[in-house]
Amino acid sequence: MSATIDTAAPPRDRNVVTRFAPSPTGFLHLGGARTALFNLLFARAHGGKFLLRIEDTDRARSTQPAIDAILSGMTWLGLDWDGDAVFQATRAERHAEVAHQMLNSGHAYRCYLTPDELAAMRAAAEAAKKPLRIRSPWRDRTDWPDDKPYVVRLKAPTEGATTIPDLVQGDVTVQNVEIDDLVLLRSDGTPVYMLAVVVDDHDMGVTHVIRGDDHLNNAFRQLPIYRAMGWPEPAYAHIPLIHGSDGAKLSKRHGAVGIEAYRDELGILPEAMGNYLLRLGWGHGDDEIIDRDQAVEWFDLAGVGKSPSRFDLKKLENLNGHYIRAADDARLTGLVAEKFGFEDAARRDLLTQAMPSLKARAANLNELAAGSAFLFATRPLQIDEAAAPLLQDGASALLTRLHAALDAVHNWDTETLEDAVRRVAEDAGVKLGQVAQPLRVALTGRKTSPGIFDVLVLLGRDESLARIADHAV
Ligand code: GLU
Repeated sequence: MSATIDTAAPPRDRNVVTRFAPSPTGFLHLGGARTALFNLLFARAHGGKFLLRIEDTDRARSTQPAIDAILSGMTWLGLDWDGDAVFQATRAERHAEVAHQMLNSGHAYRCYLTPDELAAMRAAAEAAKKPLRIRSPWRDRTDWPDDKPYVVRLKAPTEGATTIPDLVQGDVTVQNVEIDDLVLLRSDGTPVYMLAVVVDDHDMGVTHVIRGDDHLNNAFRQLPIYRAMGWPEPAYAHIPLIHGSDGAKLSKRHGAVGIEAYRDELGILPEAMGNYLLRLGWGHGDDEIIDRDQAVEWFDLAGVGKSPSRFDLKKLENLNGHYIRAADDARLTGLVAEKFGFEDAARRDLLTQAMPSLKARAANLNELAAGSAFLFATRPLQIDEAAAPLLQDGASALLTRLHAALDAVHNWDTETLEDAVRRVAEDAGVKLGQVAQPLRVALTGRKTSPGIFDVLVLLGRDESLARIADHAV
């Protein structure tokens, strides 16, 4: 009944298979999304497969809305997994079957320690100020009673050390005496999470386990299961967590941690989010703008840093501004129209027409929507608080002159309009800006807008003249 565990790692010549294995107990958070992205890129870079497993064994905490949020967040980010998602809870029987195999092969044993005996061990460890390491007297016994409750424990190695050649952390070694015999099956026969992870990773053919470094300790408990089963071991890559700008572990108080808030509330484009998450903890020289195809070509685990990265919303918005400028006008129109909740073709056309100049000055979709609101505003326009002073002093007199000059314009195009506005400035003996600023505020209610001649063209003659007249004397 005693068995030795083969500690030599089998050769790794299999095709790359990675997986993302979220627990559906909340939304898809930034760290999870980044883990998924690294797994996807690594698989794609090696022409391998990227799988998705929903770790829903904690029935009390797993919810359908959380599953939906994870799937929709991944879809939004283009983290397309291969095949169908595996739901871990559906595989409980298989997990238990593997525990029984280990029991039969002598790599696991029935442990009849009672709650009282365990409590006494805990108390003794506390009194000795030592960490609790359960050493079960049942480990080497085989006189198993059938009428008493027991758990199934793994017979983990007690001597020597285990070294994991982590692809991010480097060699990490733990003395085996530090690791107690993992419970595989509870006394009701149900498998524990740690076993489920290993069995699923094995059955799914996972070759590389890439995940947050909060799971590094788990790897030392999971490896002995592979060895006990004689299964090929995966390579591990434990990536440092994401911290907030103050260096503390990222949490709600740093702002949104759920991916959907960046999409729905902060107006971030998925390609910007993906690029940002990629750069958060991985680098390729000084390159900042890296699209997905380029990322697949360049990604390697050697480029993942060992220390936690800091989340920086400004950087994300800078990238987002870049991707907004690069995005297709019709697509942006759709996204902004969605924010406004309108569908009619006329307003969409106007938005599309305005988009080239609107998108030049927006860091997110909210700014894009706010910047385009003037197109659909009704008179009298609401004037931004910050813009209101620009309508004071001599502004109405200038707007009166402008109204007369523009009323006389027949070809309502940017060139003719520019000539007319310049002439008004010259006649009034002021700089163009002194005319353009009140004109901008009268037309848009804001201090910033697309080029003022574009605004005149977009609004059209009648609406422009009416808005100017609202502020003329
Ligand atoms: N389900 C775990 C989590 O959401 C991940 C487990 C793993 O990657 O091995 O943190």
